[in-house]
Amino acid sequence: MLRPPNIDPPQRPLSIMTTATSASGQDKTGATWATAVTDENAWEDLILTLDGGGIRGYASLLILKRLVHEIVKCERRLQETEGPIKDSPRQSFNEDELLLCHYFDYMYGTSTGGLISVMLGRLRMTVPQCLEIYRQVGNDLFGHRRNVLPLATKYRHKPLEKAVQRIVKEYCKHHENCDGLDWHPWNVDEKDAPTSSSASTTGETYRICQSICLTATRSGQLDEAYLLRTYDHRYDPEICPIWLTPYNEGADKLKIWQVTRATSAAPFFFKMLEADFGPQRGKVGFKDGGIRENNPSYAAYSEHASLRGDDHEPALLLSVGTGRPDTSHDGFAAAWPGPFGKVPLVKQWSEKIAVFKNLLIKYTEGEDRHKMMRTIAKGEHRWYKRLNVNKGLENMKMDHWESGHWTDPSTGIKKVVPGGKSLTRMEEATHAYLDRNEADKTLLEYQPPKVVLQQVAERLVRHRRAREATKHQDLKRWETHMGQYLTGTRVDHEDGAVKK
Ligand SMILES: [Zn+2]
Repeated sequence: MLRPPNIDPPQRPLSIMTTATSASGQDKTGATWATAVTDENAWEDLILTLDGGGIRGYASLLILKRLVHEIVKCERRLQETEGPIKDSPRQSFNEDELLLCHYFDYMYGTSTGGLISVMLGRLRMTVPQCLEIYRQVGNDLFGHRRNVLPLATKYRHKPLEKAVQRIVKEYCKHHENCDGLDWHPWNVDEKDAPTSSSASTTGETYRICQSICLTATRSGQLDEAYLLRTYDHRYDPEICPIWLTPYNEGADKLKIWQVTRATSAAPFFFKMLEADFGPQRGKVGFKDGGIRENNPSYAAYSEHASLRGDDHEPALLLSVGTGRPDTSHDGFAAAWPGPFGKVPLVKQWSEKIAVFKNLLIKYTEGEDRHKMMRTIAKGEHRWYKRLNVNKGLENMKMDHWESGHWTDPSTGIKKVVPGGKSLTRMEEATHAYLDRNEADKTLLEYQPPKVVLQQVAERLVRHRRAREATKHQDLKRWETHMGQYLTGTRVDHEDGAVKK
């Protein structure tokens, strides 16, 4: 169904066809791109990026839920038409148990997107598990409207810290009795730390799906974007292109709960996270990444270029938003939560207002960054794709949490729950977006969102199949990718549950 129409099996060697990822890409429908995977390009990078946006991260997760649905459909179709992968222990594909960390190599997120990237990438959770967490965390964080002054940020961060520690404790696949205080980087200099990557004989680094949270830190007079990675990144001057402005290097030794706090430490919302890196570096304060780059897709592209060189494009960079802002009216009040705009006494906080204005700009600039990425990628029919609900969330505040009717997808029962109205609204808006049959030309969509998702799914599945089919060329690479050296099992349990 996704095959390009009227294209016969290629007569030329596949490697010529498949340079579509780096050539100009003549097929403007994206269909050729979706199938252009070979043994040679199977291990090229597959990247997911997630915008910030408070509770609206729920909408990003709903898009990923549909992606998982399309992945399972495609896995089954290819298993039938092209046959199962030889020696594969995997016979069936279940939507509720599928792990996106088996399909992506890197997951970047800002703020709420950072939390999702940590859950999917670092904790290797399923999408339904993350959705469930959002419904719970939403209540912890937004369930009770603040009755304090809008600028008082004291103690608001505690529920998030506790919630993340609880999540780590429950979903950690490494410790028998996890205390919830795991490090974010895969490799830290502790004797019980898991090993995630080591150089192979071919010089390639074995790697597991990595998660990277974008945050901001103060450098001189400026807040600068800062990346908190699960892997130790170094800028190699031999590879790094000259146009690239480097981010920080390395992997900061922070706990998972600290990283999620750091990326979402929006002023007025949460207290800034202060981490003490010891006598040499001292204390570093981290602010919400949304201050600098609410859409981390360019950061992801730039990191990729610094690792592989700019003559090398990613196999896929999927950018997922938290709903398009309505730029036709006051984005300020719309994009940012709280009674802030209505309170006259804010004038007293002149310095904070300056930060606040800056925040507004960054929170609504996600679409500008998207336009920049389209230009870099020469369109969205090739390796760069963006999915972002275009209607229905534009006036929804990031801390919107209203009680009301919500239907539990597992039971089909509809009832009034905390946040129910907000959840239902996001579900309806996201489904309307994903079910749309026509491309919206005013948004420069090249295909309807549902077709984009099918193309992304096909590409991901073909990479996964090609990687598994050729695993004997370098077994350790495949096993590392599948999490063998982290979970102590041959592969992740597909259901994502901890089975010890
Ligand atoms: Zn643990």
